Amino acid sequence: MHDVTGMSIASLQEAMARGETSAEEIAAAFLARIREKDDAVGAYLTVTEEEALAQARAVDARRARGLPAGALAGIPAAYKDNLCTRGVRTTCASKLLADYRPPYDAAAVERLQAAGAVMLGKTNLDEFAMGSSTEHSALGRTRNPRDLSRVPGGSSGGSAAAVAAGEAAFALGSDTGGSVRQPAALCGVVGMRPTYGAVSRWGLVAFASSMDEIGPLTRTVADSARVLEALCGHDVRDMTSARRPCGGYVEALGTGVRGLSIALPEEMFGEGVAPEVAEAVERGARLLERKGARLCGVRLPALRYALPAYYILSSAEASSNLARFDGVRYGRRAQEARDMEALYAASRSEGFGPEVKRRILLGTFALSAGDGEAYWRRAQRARAQVRAQMRSALEAHDLLLSPTAPSVAWRAGEKADDPVSMYRSDLCTVPASLAGLPALSMPCGTGKDGLPVGLQLMGRAFAEGTIYRAAQALEEAMAE
Ligand code: GLN
Repeated sequence: MHDVTGMSIASLQEAMARGETSAEEIAAAFLARIREKDDAVGAYLTVTEEEALAQARAVDARRARGLPAGALAGIPAAYKDNLCTRGVRTTCASKLLADYRPPYDAAAVERLQAAGAVMLGKTNLDEFAMGSSTEHSALGRTRNPRDLSRVPGGSSGGSAAAVAAGEAAFALGSDTGGSVRQPAALCGVVGMRPTYGAVSRWGLVAFASSMDEIGPLTRTVADSARVLEALCGHDVRDMTSARRPCGGYVEALGTGVRGLSIALPEEMFGEGVAPEVAEAVERGARLLERKGARLCGVRLPALRYALPAYYILSSAEASSNLARFDGVRYGRRAQEARDMEALYAASRSEGFGPEVKRRILLGTFALSAGDGEAYWRRAQRARAQVRAQMRSALEAHDLLLSPTAPSVAWRAGEKADDPVSMYRSDLCTVPASLAGLPALSMPCGTGKDGLPVGLQLMGRAFAEGTIYRAAQALEEAMAE
């Protein structure tokens, strides 16, 4: 049999069903792979070896007794370290939470575990998910498995790297402004940001609550559909969770793109986008056309406000969400503070890294009375325009298609001292976030130095099935 660490979820399941391997053997193979590779890649902050083997044995035992074992039974998964895991360190890659062990599992983790997935560990991220390269982690460095001198993207860089390196069959990330899609693009894997409200955020440490979403990083489109199907659905514990049926994604696969209308927003192919990236993505679009899709261009002028609006709104929400980290209720507490005020100030000054502080300052300013308020209100108006233009384009067309990231993976350290250039890498991903729409990134050829290029497909709210249809058709066309 092949090395199991390179197999799709469906082939792992078939191999187990045929009795060629067991969940325990699969978990052991992935753990061995982590031992072999992760010193160089640095995808994981915590590896839960014993728990993984115990969970895998429990899956094998259920099977042996003929009991149903779940849709992802025995499939090894990695979870971004801002998803709460009961009794297992959940750090958000921050010194502030370096020893935090939540008393409960996030809803997304709970669902996957209930489906039989096996947790291998927790993956690195930019501190509190703020960043695009995973270099803002206070607890470790993650490298791009396609070229170890480069960044994996971010903020779910550990999750993307784990999947790309064969150190997990799939991983979960969170996506506020692109943190699932952009690292997927840079590492050459598939990353899905579902519609806002499709997946419960209960137990995800909040960054910007009006945009945070949880989504899968996988090697194939079909794997992504499988994992999302296990993840989605209403949850009373998250008040923004959608009350509507979801799923049918696996069923949508293989139905092709004949008759689908796909629009390419001009603003996402022009200024700021590397020509080689735009060309690779245009080639991908033409492959879809050859398979029967109709292509056209579309103009969405409000997109020029998307990036500044995103950074103002997400920072404003973060400044409020992160107020809970006061050194009293969670995590690290500064020693020897004279009074309460000093305790808060010292705990936060010691605990948060520079990027998180930058966002808190920016967000607090954008919300403050007087001039500050004008920023937040104007950003809200810009968001409304982006949303309206994207939604109306998606009334006329089934999908929007663009690059995911404006460039291929850059060298570690290259943008570390230039926050604005780091922010620019979110140019094409923030629009779907502001509009609350689903968007997927998938590998689409290579650019400079043979590094992966990501193609993004954005769809109507709750039309993940249409995105998966087109993505799978493209995946097949590229393999031909
Ligand atoms: N790179 C973006 C930011 O820094 C997106 C982060 C995210 O989606 N969590 O805000």
